[in-house]
Amino acid sequence: MKKIQMVDLGGQYKGIKAQVNAAIANIMETSAFINGPEVHAFQKDLETYLGVKHVIPCANGTDALQIAMMGLGLQPGDEVITADFTFAATVEVIALLQLTPVLVDVDPDTFNIDIAAIERAITPKTKAIVPVHLFGQCADMDAIMDLAEKHKLFVIEDNAQAIGANHTSKNGTKRKAGTIGHVGATSFFPSKNLGAYGDGGAIFTNDDALAHTLRGIVNHGMYQRYHHDVVGVNSRLDSMQAAVLRAKLPKLDMYCDNRRAAARKYSAAFSGHPDIVVPKTVNGCEGICDVCDCHVFHQYTLKITNGKRDALVKHLGEKGIPCGVYYPIPLHRQKAYADARYNESDFEITNLLSEQVVSLPMHTELDDEQIDYITATVIGFLNG
Ligand SMILES: *Cc1c(COP(=O)(O)O)cnc(C)c1O
Repeated sequence: MKKIQMVDLGGQYKGIKAQVNAAIANIMETSAFINGPEVHAFQKDLETYLGVKHVIPCANGTDALQIAMMGLGLQPGDEVITADFTFAATVEVIALLQLTPVLVDVDPDTFNIDIAAIERAITPKTKAIVPVHLFGQCADMDAIMDLAEKHKLFVIEDNAQAIGANHTSKNGTKRKAGTIGHVGATSFFPSKNLGAYGDGGAIFTNDDALAHTLRGIVNHGMYQRYHHDVVGVNSRLDSMQAAVLRAKLPKLDMYCDNRRAAARKYSAAFSGHPDIVVPKTVNGCEGICDVCDCHVFHQYTLKITNGKRDALVKHLGEKGIPCGVYYPIPLHRQKAYADARYNESDFEITNLLSEQVVSLPMHTELDDEQIDYITATVIGFLNG
């Protein structure tokens, strides 16, 4: 059996080696390192893939979130509601811009931001909601957009984990994750579903004026050479990373299919086990069906309900199976983001998830032998 990895970027590289190597060699030959033709070409390719008017490439996913918030003109003291159960980058940029993060609980089945909790957290100071499409599946965007319209709020989608996922609205409209809110932000960190060979990120919007503002902000607030109209940042997607991403983008749907296929095999083996809850897909289907494209399984995350999650993690490590706990500490309990206004009872689900979740190896190169070994090892431990 091949050595099991959490993410197998080396295996994936074999399938795109010729294109990637040629594209990188061409950049070396032409010295177009910064804002070269590959960056513009990737931007156009991604706009087409996503069906969105504007893609603004930038240096990483954290920058993408920050620049999106800067572009919307959010001001110090404005309250921004986001999920307690996410990677810290989401809340970090809110705090960094001196906005007030307001963390709320999540849904126990989808791990995504809880709509009733958002509603309870809205005050006259609330200016934006940041849903995180956690583990590869969209938050309930219909409900979020309804709330945003009712309360005149911006919606910034943290799409770092769900690029390629589809979202089907109640009215049947199908759109790509990250293109539904006022602005979307994504990451091309190597282990993300569309990963570069280094850092990268992008912002998406259908709003022409906002896109113009964002293009200036990523480039030192410059709209005309050496005229600085606003305070900006220096956040560029590297040409080499753009070349890698351009080679990978045509394969993204296949990569997502491979992940879904692995998820389906995992769930077939685990479903019905009394101590395991398998991930649930919600957008138009129950369970993981063959046609469902709403979940791109950035992570395949189980809930272990018998209190043996940590022991299982240790056991898997001993059996050569890497796994991850995303996320072990809720954000409201982190020193940097604690707030006297929070009550533990407001975060019942996040607190429970932080004790129950475990993410299994998930990537585009998993084979049946590996999946069988992983599922047998998990079940063997829980039954033993
Ligand atoms: C990875 C990630 C980010 C940050 O992306 P970087 O490119 O690492 O800066 C933000 N939000 C979420 C939910 C992520 O998973």
